[in-house]
Amino acid sequence: MNDVVTHFQRGTFEERYWLPAHEKRRESALFKSNKKLLRDDCGAPCWICGATEDLEVHHVFEWAFWNALDRRKVTDILKAIEFYDSDYTALAKDTDRLRQVLAELGKKKPLLTSPDDARNLVVLCREHHRLKLTGIHTVSFPLWLAIAAVPIKDAVLTREQLMLAVSRVSALDQELAAYSANHYTPA
Ligand SMILES: [Zn+2]
Repeated sequence: MNDVVTHFQRGTFEERYWLPAHEKRRESALFKSNKKLLRDDCGAPCWICGATEDLEVHHVFEWAFWNALDRRKVTDILKAIEFYDSDYTALAKDTDRLRQVLAELGKKKPLLTSPDDARNLVVLCREHHRLKLTGIHTVSFPLWLAIAAVPIKDAVLTREQLMLAVSRVSALDQELAAYSANHYTPA
């Protein structure tokens, strides 16, 4: 039996970092063509939830950090995480094409030379990309990974529970405010 029962936890974190000198952010021709290839031509769904609507394309290694990174380490880490494993690629509308493109890329360019390389891109729905409390840009990596690994069926916790739904937090805040208004008199 577990010692600790399922419970709700709320936290904040702050991060501080330097960015190397980099070019002004722009959508490169390579990014545009890879976005079209992965999302539109191959029909890759959201990597987290499998959604097929409202899809955006995310850089795993951020564009702004690129000049400070070791290409070999980047390549190795992407291989280790294996965003394009057989389970995920099976979900694409054109699985064969997606697998073929990535296999050819690996042969032609063993090391990544651009953040816009398809292997550094992953398709995410808007919710799991940028939205507050659920997007990869707004939650910590450990939490985001846990969301990705929740089973689709018979889960102990749902994705929504792990994602710290905004509605849940605001409901709690309202309850606490109401409780405090009814039980305490201002000093
Ligand atoms: Zn999603």
